[in-house]
Amino acid sequence: MKIAFFGLGNMGTPMAQHLIGAGHQVTVWNRSLEKAEPLKSKGAKIAHSLADAAKEAEIVITMLADDQAVESSVLHSGAVIDNLPKGATHISMSTISVALCRKLAEEHAKRGQRYLAAPVFGRPVAAAAAQLWIVAAGPPEAIERCQPVFDALGRGTSVVGADPWLANAVKLSGNFLIAAALESMGEAFALVRKSGVDAGQFLEIVNNALFNSPLYAGYGSAVAKEQFEPAGFKLRLGFKDLRLVQEAAESAAVPMPLAGVLRDRFLAAMARGEGDLDWAAIARIAALQAGL
Ligand code: NAP
Repeated sequence: MKIAFFGLGNMGTPMAQHLIGAGHQVTVWNRSLEKAEPLKSKGAKIAHSLADAAKEAEIVITMLADDQAVESSVLHSGAVIDNLPKGATHISMSTISVALCRKLAEEHAKRGQRYLAAPVFGRPVAAAAAQLWIVAAGPPEAIERCQPVFDALGRGTSVVGADPWLANAVKLSGNFLIAAALESMGEAFALVRKSGVDAGQFLEIVNNALFNSPLYAGYGSAVAKEQFEPAGFKLRLGFKDLRLVQEAAESAAVPMPLAGVLRDRFLAAMARGEGDLDWAAIARIAALQAGL
C-alpha cells in the first residue's frame, strides 16, 4: 500500500521502518527534516510537504506528539485534510484527546475519507521489535483493510468499537493505570528505602511475590535505580496524557480523584525542569518529599 507516515520521533521512526520492511511504499514527513534523512537509505521517499505526501497516499499515519501537532498538521494548514484522496484512510496512532478524535472523524467523513484511531501500548523498544499492542476503533471495513499495517507494527490488535474516539478513551485509561502504578511504586520504594531496606531486594519481592508483570519489572527497575534517562516516553508527554484523562473524565462525568494527585506529581516534576526525563521520574517526587 502507499503509506504516508508523519512523525518520526522515538516511536514513529521504528514504526515507519517496519512498514518499509513489510513491503509498503512509504513516504515520510517530519517537522525537523533531518530525522527523515536516515530513512531514505532504508527505502523511504522523503516528503518536503504534508500536502505532497497526502495527495499520493492510500493511507496516512500520524504518530505526532499531541493534539496541537496533529491538529496543525492535519486540519489547520489544510495540508492533509484537503489533499488526501476520497476513500483514503487516516490512521491516527498518537495519543490524542477524545475531543480531537471526534473532530477528525467528522472532518474526514465530510470529505469522503476514512478515519481510524489506533493508539498503541508499548515503549520505543517495543516499537523497534514490532511488539506494540494496538487499540483500534473505526468502521469495521476500514479496520479490516488496515490490518496488514497493524500486523507489521504490533503483536496484537484489540478492536474496541466502530466509533474511533473509543480507542482514545481506552488508551488514556491504560496510561492512567501506568501513571498510577508509577506513583504507587514511588511511594512504596520511598518507604522501603527510608526504612533501610535495599531497593533492589524490594523490587525482587515485587516481581516475585506481588506483580508478575513486565510493566512492574521494567518501571520498578527504573524507580529502584532512579534511572530516568534516556527517556522512552517523555514526562511532558505523560503530563499531556494525564490532562487528556481528566478532560475525558470530566466530559463523561466520571470522578477520578487519583488523577488529581497524579496531576500534581507531574506538575512538581515539570516545575523541576524534568519534562524531558522518562515519565517514571514522577516516582522520584515521593522520595524527595520523604527527604531522600
Ligand atoms: P517524540 O519522540 O517526542 O516525537 C514527537 C513527534 O511529533 C516528532 O516527530 C515531532 O517532530 C513531532 N511534533 C511535535 N510537535 C509538532 C508540531 N507542532 N508539528 C508537527 N510535528 C510535531 O514522541 P514519541 O514518544 O514518538 O510519541 C509520539 C506519540 O506516541 C505521542 O502521542 C505519545 O503520547 C504516543 N506514545 C508514546 C509512547 C512512548 O513510550 N514513547 C508509547 C505509546 C504512545 P520533531 O522531530 O520536529 O520534534
